Amino acid sequence: MEKIAPLSNRHGACGEVHCLIQAFNQEGVSGIYGGTMRSVQVRSQQSGGDAHGTPIDPCPDYCTPLLGRLGINF
Ligand SMILES: [Zn+2]
Repeated sequence: MEKIAPLSNRHGACGEVHCLIQAFNQEGVSGIYGGTMRSVQVRSQQSGGDAHGTPIDPCPDYCTPLLGRLGINF
């Protein structure tokens, strides 16, 4: 079994994983292989600023290798 790298400063509840779970629940294993995924920052209206909707790369320690293994472009 491969070693799992420690998580970065993300909170560990990445949207990428939640999307994969939803795709798996809807389409089974075939729903989580291949394709393209793009993530954006989500902020409340009260937070101010203009970060909401800004594209963000998957976290380097967990999602990047996971998406790579599943053949998902980002
Ligand atoms: Zn992640």
